[in-house]
Amino acid sequence: MPVLALARALDAPVTSIPRLPPADAKRLARLGVETVRDLLLTLPYDWETYGAPAEVAGLTDGNQATVVGTVSAISARQSLRRRIRLTEATIRDDSGAALRVVWFNQPFIAKQLHRGDRVAVAGTVKVARYGGSLQMQNPHFERLEPSEESQPTRVGGLMPKYHLVEGLSSRKIARWVESALPLADRVEDVIPEEVRERQHLIGVADAIRRGHKPSTDQDFADARRRMAFAELFELQAAFALMRASIAAEPATPMPYRQEVIDAFKAGLGFELTNAQRRSTWETFKDMAGTLPMNRLLNGDVGSGKTAVAAAAAAMAHAAGMQTVVMAPTEILARQHLHRFRAYLEESFPGLVVELLVSSQSAAERRRVRDSAANGQCALVVGTHALIEDDVKFFDLGLAVVDEQHRFGTRQRELLRGKGRGRPHFLAMTATPIPRTLALALYGEMSVSVLNELPPGRTPVETEVIDPDERNRAYEIVRREVKAGHQAFVICPLIEESETLAARSATAEAERLRAEVFPEFRLDLVHGRLKNKEEVMQRFVAGEVQVLVATAVVEVGVDVPNASVMMIEGADRFGLAQLHQFRGRVGRGAARSYCLLLAEDLAEGAMQRLELVARVHDGFTLAREDMERRGIGELMGPRQHGLTDAAMESLRSPALLDETRAEVQRLVEEDPGLDRFPALKAAAARRLELTSIS
Ligand code: ADP
Ligand code: MG
Repeated sequence: MPVLALARALDAPVTSIPRLPPADAKRLARLGVETVRDLLLTLPYDWETYGAPAEVAGLTDGNQATVVGTVSAISARQSLRRRIRLTEATIRDDSGAALRVVWFNQPFIAKQLHRGDRVAVAGTVKVARYGGSLQMQNPHFERLEPSEESQPTRVGGLMPKYHLVEGLSSRKIARWVESALPLADRVEDVIPEEVRERQHLIGVADAIRRGHKPSTDQDFADARRRMAFAELFELQAAFALMRASIAAEPATPMPYRQEVIDAFKAGLGFELTNAQRRSTWETFKDMAGTLPMNRLLNGDVGSGKTAVAAAAAAMAHAAGMQTVVMAPTEILARQHLHRFRAYLEESFPGLVVELLVSSQSAAERRRVRDSAANGQCALVVGTHALIEDDVKFFDLGLAVVDEQHRFGTRQRELLRGKGRGRPHFLAMTATPIPRTLALALYGEMSVSVLNELPPGRTPVETEVIDPDERNRAYEIVRREVKAGHQAFVICPLIEESETLAARSATAEAERLRAEVFPEFRLDLVHGRLKNKEEVMQRFVAGEVQVLVATAVVEVGVDVPNASVMMIEGADRFGLAQLHQFRGRVGRGAARSYCLLLAEDLAEGAMQRLELVARVHDGFTLAREDMERRGIGELMGPRQHGLTDAAMESLRSPALLDETRAEVQRLVEEDPGLDRFPALKAAAARRLELTSIS
């Protein structure tokens, strides 16, 4: 192939690879792999060593093994409770000893393998909790020739483990990688040679080859370290470019005025917590300068972030500037409207707060738009409707985004673009993020932490409930709802597919409605639902008593009357995520409950859940998550755009600090990174990537 074609081949969609049909390309896209380059750069996350075929009799719990034998039974069925498709088989080795095999959600296997087939399976051996029979879950398999001498060629030995979604297998990916591998030498290295040398990193082509086909453990480790470094390096470069572009355009300074904060405090009706005071002060300090503020307010659910934003809006108003507040849903926007009004309108009589959402009448929207454009209103709260072209401000000085991870970079930029020069920018998030992570993922922002809840809150009573005692959980729900409260039931996390998640939640809602809570008004909300907001609105209004929801639906609204949060499959969630769910109750005066139902009763899983029951601080739980399960768990799948090799490396700040220092060195000499086109291009891609939401 001519050189040019080769270079282009890297940017070609993965379908240019032989035997990679569009359906598989779609699956890969869900893993962030769209081009041939992406495929090459996505290393396996681990390797399995199964060794030569072993006898079933010699296997013990936890063994990684290859077994060759004959299929003596195989069948596919649907699991009743969770709507998972199971393929179950029994395989007998040549001595006649049996191994039970289960595959989840791969019903096609029952069509590929039949009774009497000779087969090799490779996977981790488990001893069943009851009866002690030997089992493998989701093993790799290979159909063999019927003769007793036949040996596996593809299964066993060393097998890469790639991240998967339904319908993909590591074996398939390995095959595609194999045919793309000759292009490895064409992949541009984003890490300049001087940096590679200083940091003892191998080149990108080497890393691709060793990462996908290592000869030794060291090969794999070197490849992973290099790739992790490159990812963090790209991200830090992206932040550096973003900071430079923000600094290029001045903001209007808003001088600090004591009488404003005095009036603000007087109108609040409560004392600010120390954390609120500190964050407010940090915000004011930024706003007083011409360098546009770019600050993240990171605080637990209920820590009172809105009050900090309101104080900032008051200061902007005093400087003659307007504020805009964007929230991801209409319900949240309406809640903000009420709260901002309560915090501000009495103390600042001229400060008009308006709402702009798409469900308003055209006339109302026009009125609010006019009011914003002619400077009558000081603060507009709304949803995505705010970033439409026809929304203009008289003099926007401060832009606030709530639940900022729900918006993309482009949307935030559009909002900022409504200002004269660059408005100051304040982002809020309720996901507690440890410092290392904040630097790695939001490196372009300064962070204020609200690690303190307002006084007088009763901690939510949290209990880990054995699945056998599910009825006890239902009793608590029943008692609370009968007493006039409301309850959430969260369905287990199904990461592989949102369709599956929606289906399982629908089934669960039907079951609860028919068999468990026929006496209550119960409704369902999941990611695939068109009228999500409507359902939530009915829950907020108290018309729905029990709300069944999937994990993808962020129930980020204030429903003070909700007093029970029941979480099915709690062991599948990160601790910080469980804590987030818990934060949805306990907002009113009533005593509240968080009920954690585990599927996996293994000791480790139970200990994690017990920790949530004991610890009520989101930051502590987030750190625990990071240490126990890695950062991927904390942030949810692919929100960050980092592979888990990079995530893994964030457990210790060392690598991150190195990348920051190296990027700093480069931008000091070359602020636009123009001498490093590969890095600049990769940084730009990162910014796009973090903007999907
Ligand atoms: P967040 O957005 O951080 O989750 P909110 O801003 O919605 O939290 O505040 C949660 C609740 O706590 C609101 O009802 C708010 O009025 C109240 N609140 C905020 N700060 C304080 C405080 N310092 N003292 C008492 N109540 C507070
Ligand atoms: Mg909030």
